[in-house]
Amino acid sequence: MTPKILILPGDGIGPEITGEAVRVLGALSLGFEMETALLGGAAVDATGEPYPEATQKLAKAADAVLLGAVGGPKWDTLPREKRPEKGLLGIRKHLNLFANLRPAILYPELANASTLKPEVVSGLDILIVRELTGDIYFGQPRGIENRGGERFGFNTMHYTETEIRRIGRVAFEAARKRGKRLCSVDKMNVLETTQLWRDVMNELAPEYPEVTLSHMLVDNAAMQLVRAPRQFDVLVTGNMFGDILSDEASMLTGSIGMLPSASLDEHNKGLYEPSHGSAPDIAGQGVANPLATILSAAMMLRYTFNEEAAARRVENAVKAVLAKGLRTGDIFETGTTKVGTKAMGDAVLAAL
Ligand code: NAD
Repeated sequence: MTPKILILPGDGIGPEITGEAVRVLGALSLGFEMETALLGGAAVDATGEPYPEATQKLAKAADAVLLGAVGGPKWDTLPREKRPEKGLLGIRKHLNLFANLRPAILYPELANASTLKPEVVSGLDILIVRELTGDIYFGQPRGIENRGGERFGFNTMHYTETEIRRIGRVAFEAARKRGKRLCSVDKMNVLETTQLWRDVMNELAPEYPEVTLSHMLVDNAAMQLVRAPRQFDVLVTGNMFGDILSDEASMLTGSIGMLPSASLDEHNKGLYEPSHGSAPDIAGQGVANPLATILSAAMMLRYTFNEEAAARRVENAVKAVLAKGLRTGDIFETGTTKVGTKAMGDAVLAAL
């Protein structure tokens, strides 16, 4: 069967950066069938819905989805249900993408891009595994109500042990293939939900004797990530803590324009997207860094299509381009050559 990829350019710089990743995927001659559809603000403008039915159908039928980014100031005042972010949460839930994998790797050529001292971050290679479909982001009841004459805001944090176990397994498996160290992050001293999280992780540990499991409270994890980030191999945590810690980890590397991500279901169907947003401040200028999206395509080759060699080929092409000194504005430094989105894509294609 022909492998099917759905491309969702989204908003802001989304169309520019996915355009480059599509060129790279096409150049590999792996016979992918690629189709494009609407998500986010672009979908709201065209159909009134952030995750329209036509896109839902195509997403279900595809083996993998490549997404740019969604959102922008234009849609920030719409009712919450109609905002682009609802489209993103919607597709994650619809495809049951419960596991979010975000590597944070510091390429030696970009060591100066980090705000931390090179001796603290050089050689950094960590993977954050974030649960993506549960937790306080989806918990009911929620809302803002009038209670006792004043406005009252509330959300609900919850996890079932099944949800914790399945994300735990993804993290243990990932750690087994890497440095064999897994750190589970929680807030068990205050939140019962995360006490259960810790208990279930401990229950899983005997099934993976080669992996060393440790635990850390989320506030300490936030500190340790900037104090001594190389102590970590794989981190696993819930949706909200993972949201924050994965952004923090991404900044260790200096540029959010370099960081890919994968969100997987139980059958390795995946949604692949850069870790950054739609960057409305530079949209349409042809200056956005397409490498995070191209590296997301490489993760797609690895996790959904089992094309390890092709994934490496793309990753090595990105390394070669950096070694040549080519940089988009976000990672530019004196002595390197500043290029735009398309020229960066051209260089990756040439290096392939
Ligand atoms: P952002 O990641 O879009 O931008 C933060 C900063 O990083 C900006 O200065 C931007 O120019 C820069 N940047 C981001 N990606 C870049 C790239 N590839 N190349 C060069 N520079 C890049 O975050 P934000 O400004 O907080 O959010 C902007 C919009 O994106 C908001 O509407 C937000 O809701 C949305 N957003 C979407 C996603 C997503 O689709 N997954 C994630 C985060 C934010």
